[in-house]
Amino acid sequence: EAKGEGRNAYRFFSPEMNAQAHGRLRLENDLRRAVERHELELHYQPQLDLATGEVCAVEALVRWRHPVRGLVLPNAFIPMAEETGLVLGIGEWVLNEACRQVAQWQREGVADGLRVAVNISARQLQRAGLDTAVRRALSLSGLPAPCLELEITESSVMLDPLHAQSVLQSLRELGVLLSIDDFGTGYSSLAYLKRLPLDRLKIDRSFIGGIPTDSDDAAIVETIIVMTHKLGLRVIAEGVETLEQRLQLVNQGCDEMQGFLLAHPVPAEELPPLLERLKEAAAAARPAGPA
Ligand code: C2E
Ligand code: MG
Ligand code: MG
Ligand code: MG
Repeated sequence: EAKGEGRNAYRFFSPEMNAQAHGRLRLENDLRRAVERHELELHYQPQLDLATGEVCAVEALVRWRHPVRGLVLPNAFIPMAEETGLVLGIGEWVLNEACRQVAQWQREGVADGLRVAVNISARQLQRAGLDTAVRRALSLSGLPAPCLELEITESSVMLDPLHAQSVLQSLRELGVLLSIDDFGTGYSSLAYLKRLPLDRLKIDRSFIGGIPTDSDDAAIVETIIVMTHKLGLRVIAEGVETLEQRLQLVNQGCDEMQGFLLAHPVPAEELPPLLERLKEAAAAARPAGPA
């Protein structure tokens, strides 16, 4: 092993590994300043009510406009932000910005009563004061509480289910909506889920990708939909990319969908025209009313 090999121990730290560790440190330092340098931005992806064909909400998804690397997607920095705790500052910025933007759209008449879904990280859920931050974001922005939905992943709930239960209870008392994100991937116990004050489950896109052809995925999706309804919750499918998937979900009684089939996440300035186009498409798809 390394210790007995004298100078050869160095071989474990190849130049590539060194460069990698260095690059990571640089990225971390950059991320530390990203909020104050206004390098973060939110993109918005519509969610469709399958019964009415209308957009019922948008999910706010963070992006990092890095001066050198360009647009960085969350999977490339949220995990690091989680580890370092930087996600707390980022999460607070996201919460405030999403509420501010959507309250502004409501005032401008872009979409009456539009709801915004914000992703909450495991760290934010663990730390005391999430309810205070949410209350603050609502009062600063003037956004009505039922127009804010918080998406919590199944796995972050399961890190400490009892704590999660009490945090979600206090959030629920503020009047915001609560949903479980990436459902089906986190090995949660239904016994816990049942006790949480939830409004909806989001079926993870790994299951949606398999329908309608993969019979296992189709069975899982159908089971989740039936179970969710029995628990009195609404259910949304994420990652819907094809018309076949949409039709299957409608047949199985799914309430809402989100995915590239409908729209990719777009920067804030592109959302109002996108909503306009989706409204026209929904009107065109409806059977003609009385002449
Ligand atoms: P998520 O919350 O499950 O968000 C959905 C992700 O799926 C988004 O990726 C979205 O762009 C992508 N997506 C939507 N429709 C489709 C589709 O039809 N096909 C495929 N292949 N992908 C689709 P994105 O924006 O890269 O975000 C990735 C993850 O990063 C999110 O997954 C969420 O866990 C996390 N994230 C994003 N924004 C935030 C944030 O503000 N705070 C925290 N804590 N996490 C965030
Ligand atoms: Mg989400
Ligand atoms: Mg998700
Ligand atoms: Mg997901």
